[in-house]
Amino acid sequence: MNSVVVDTARSPHAALRPVPASAVTLKDAFWQPRRETNRAATLPSQFDHLETSGTRPNFRRAANNEAGTPFRGPVFMDSDLYKWLEAAASALATDDDPALREMVSTAVAEVEAAQQPDGYLNTHFTFDKADLRYSNLRDWHELYCAGHLIQAAVAHVRATGDERLLNVARRFADHLCETFGEEENKQRLTDGHEEIEMALVELFRVTGERRYLDLARFFLDVRGQKTVGGGAYHQDHVPFRDLAEVTGHAVRMTYLACGAADIFLETGDAALKSALEAQWANLTTRRMYVSGGLGARYEGEAFGKDYELPNARAYTETCAAIGSVMWNHRMLLATGAARYADLLEHTLYNAVLPGLSLDGQAYFYQNPLEDDGRHRRQPWFGCACCPPNVARLLAQLPAYFYGTTDAGDVYVHLYAEGNAQIPRPGGGTLTLRQSTNYPWNGDIALTIEGVTGEATFGLFVRVPGWCESGATLEVNGEPHPDPLAPGGYVELRRTWRTGDTVHLHLPLSARRIACHPYVAENAGRVALLRGPILYCVEQADHPNVALRDLVLLPDTELSPRPRPDLLGNIVILEGTAALDPPADGWTPNTLYQTTRGGASTTNGEQNTVPLTAVPYFAWANREPGQMHVWLRER
Ligand SMILES: [Zn+2]
Repeated sequence: MNSVVVDTARSPHAALRPVPASAVTLKDAFWQPRRETNRAATLPSQFDHLETSGTRPNFRRAANNEAGTPFRGPVFMDSDLYKWLEAAASALATDDDPALREMVSTAVAEVEAAQQPDGYLNTHFTFDKADLRYSNLRDWHELYCAGHLIQAAVAHVRATGDERLLNVARRFADHLCETFGEEENKQRLTDGHEEIEMALVELFRVTGERRYLDLARFFLDVRGQKTVGGGAYHQDHVPFRDLAEVTGHAVRMTYLACGAADIFLETGDAALKSALEAQWANLTTRRMYVSGGLGARYEGEAFGKDYELPNARAYTETCAAIGSVMWNHRMLLATGAARYADLLEHTLYNAVLPGLSLDGQAYFYQNPLEDDGRHRRQPWFGCACCPPNVARLLAQLPAYFYGTTDAGDVYVHLYAEGNAQIPRPGGGTLTLRQSTNYPWNGDIALTIEGVTGEATFGLFVRVPGWCESGATLEVNGEPHPDPLAPGGYVELRRTWRTGDTVHLHLPLSARRIACHPYVAENAGRVALLRGPILYCVEQADHPNVALRDLVLLPDTELSPRPRPDLLGNIVILEGTAALDPPADGWTPNTLYQTTRGGASTTNGEQNTVPLTAVPYFAWANREPGQMHVWLRER
């Protein structure tokens, strides 16, 4: 059994081979408790929501041919169960849990029973709406749901060895191969919501059947030819290879990029890679929030224009952040370039994690960077895409930590206490142990164990881009001779023996981050980061203060303080801030007035107040109140 998420083990154009989640044991105080909560609380509670919301009843209704009973929920409801199945199967790959296993088994049987004799499977288009099959691919998500079924099936067979769900997925995929394609007797169409592309590539990887990869490539190539309306919303306005920006519906965009990256990994199509790099550059230099979140607009759940990044009205769907993690993971596998691991890590902590409450049972769909206290996590949604998506990522997280090469080099992408069984070329494994209190502490010890005799290979240790300077490293106490370049992997090539230890020291001082001045809302403001963690200020720590009146002074020091008692064990930042409310002329009844030639609109900084910043991922877990990521700075 294994639990690879993106299996590049045989991909001809991958720089890195995967190390499965089942080979990685996390024992840290940050991720592992969250993964425990995911398995023990989140996934079981989601299974119940999938019953009460109507998702699982839809499958039973389809299986029993219950004509006359209404389909419940939005047209893409099936995907919620599939994503949950992928999450639960992935959780079982690293931790056995008999109760969860039983739920998975029940769900697999429900899915299996709903499949139609010709392989088709979508509970919305069964019996009473069967004649509507594939009649509106732009809006009705049939291939999107098929993609999630395939991903669930792949995760399930990898985790359990049980091929039941895989056989369901293959029957459906074979039906799709017979239905869609360039040939004259087939439909030359694709889905309005991307997802099928990456799923079919993974199905190719697990089965070896080339026709699934060919169909994925067909679905990618037929997009951009006005096959699904021709709009940027569906990324259908230009061919993918000519798309040099991230645009339209943000989740669709990231899933499309994942599919294209997967196809590149298998085919080496250079035009795909350069398009992906151009899109990534546009995202990271013009259209991404400081959290790593993406999608600026409520309208169309979409990317905005360059520098259009409103804070309170940020859409930043949790699923879009997850899509970004998945996209960056594939780019990392394709290139071995640390910038993708940097953004993957940043997005995990600061854009995915805020989507989940500390108790693991309430969710954000939108993740604003400023709020008045009214945006609160919900136990479920009518459109419940985000909750099982978060569960899936947490379950699969260990698979994101390491990579290897055919020559036996080992890449360390992410940091957390634990160990990994790293496969060696020609068989066998070595153990790599991490000792650290990351992300709160920047000291990381990597110890090689389980090497019989000695092994010569390169150990590639990521020096995060946020370090800027000051990172140091020793091998068995010997300082590394060269300065460490942030945003890269330091290559330690030598003959390793059991007991060899690498110490990496990443400086974790609080940093003030400014934003490009074209984002007018952030002018004169800074965001606070420490290590990979983005901070915010909350009303709960500043009673009776309007957060928009807070001003950081240039010389104010921000000191870290561990607070194991607070918000599930965090490090806060403490300092002082001035209060700078509007000048006396601005009464509550004045919105506009004639300017007086450069006169200040405020009274200047007056009282100082203690400032407490908490990690942004933990916001909205106390009493409702204001929250700001961007703080005024003098
Ligand atoms: Zn979502």
